[in-house]
Amino acid sequence: MERRKVIIIGTGPAGLTAAIYAARADLKPLILEGHEPGGQLTLTTEVENFPGFEHGVMGPELMANMKKQAARFNAEFKSVMCTSVDFSKRPFTVTDSSGASYLADTVIISTGASAKWLGLPNEKELTGRGVSTCATCDGFFYRDKIVHVVGGGDTAMEDATFITKFAKKVYIVHRKDTLRASKPMQERAFKNPKIEFLWDSAVTEIQSNQSGVSGITVENLKTGAKEQRPTDGLFYAIGHQPNTSFLNGQITLDNHGFIKTNNGPETNIPGVFACGDVQDSYYRQAITAAGSGCQAAIKAERFLEGH
Ligand code: NDP
Repeated sequence: MERRKVIIIGTGPAGLTAAIYAARADLKPLILEGHEPGGQLTLTTEVENFPGFEHGVMGPELMANMKKQAARFNAEFKSVMCTSVDFSKRPFTVTDSSGASYLADTVIISTGASAKWLGLPNEKELTGRGVSTCATCDGFFYRDKIVHVVGGGDTAMEDATFITKFAKKVYIVHRKDTLRASKPMQERAFKNPKIEFLWDSAVTEIQSNQSGVSGITVENLKTGAKEQRPTDGLFYAIGHQPNTSFLNGQITLDNHGFIKTNNGPETNIPGVFACGDVQDSYYRQAITAAGSGCQAAIKAERFLEGH
């Protein structure tokens, strides 16, 4: 089996930043790109809050540039999924979907978290044209517009509150009549005059025109009554699923399934580091993911020096 100093699993901003740092440190990292190369940013349109781009940058372009930057320093990319790992002894073993297995002195896990979707037929094609899973990224585009946010947790409250900075009205569509969100977050949303709640309700259909989302159908789950509501934006805030199934229980996770990290990117296994959204249920930003990718690469480098 080929032996590598660093194998990076996943290519969002965390993995690609780790790749840039590891490659510049001459560690010749191998990067397994995963099923969605570039990660969640490839699903967005304009990114306006990534420092260094005064006029914003398109998400896919930002990720393509990060990849080229890593490749310039001889990072090696392989377009495969990581299917399994064996962290029981060092060097670790990493197997990919082509059937190849590698030995790795260190592994950086940056497989991200996938936003949960409702599963409506046209939701994916309307992403970036009215449907969004990231209020921090897209809220700004809804100045003086009407927005519906789906969910009843902290993210839904936070997203709805954030979007009221721009939108003229925000409706929270929740499937129950009580919220899962923490009390202070609930209070903040209840007090906000721009926010209104649609209780016991589910979005069952999205209507669109040439410019994107134009309306939704909301069903009252108690009465079965359906209502067609005009809206400019539909934000999903129904949770995220960290991509950890290939770890097969070998890394300690928190209660929500995110990798538990200490001292920055350290996992419970020395030599295995995690960065980006797979270990972050709180910030979930491209820039914080990139920062943690940098930390993971530096830790991997120091680990290799020490061993
Ligand atoms: P949660 O899992 O806490 O909440 C998800 C919400 O979406 C729930 O209200 C759930 O409904 C609803 N939901 C799930 N699936 C569906 C579906 N298919 N259709 C309709 N509704 C659905 O996720 P969050 O992202 O809100 O929070 C994740 C973690 O991050 C939590 O620990 C939270 O506290 C934390 N967080 C903290 C913040 C802060 O402190 N500032 C900000 C954001 C998140 P139901 O209630 O019926 O199950």
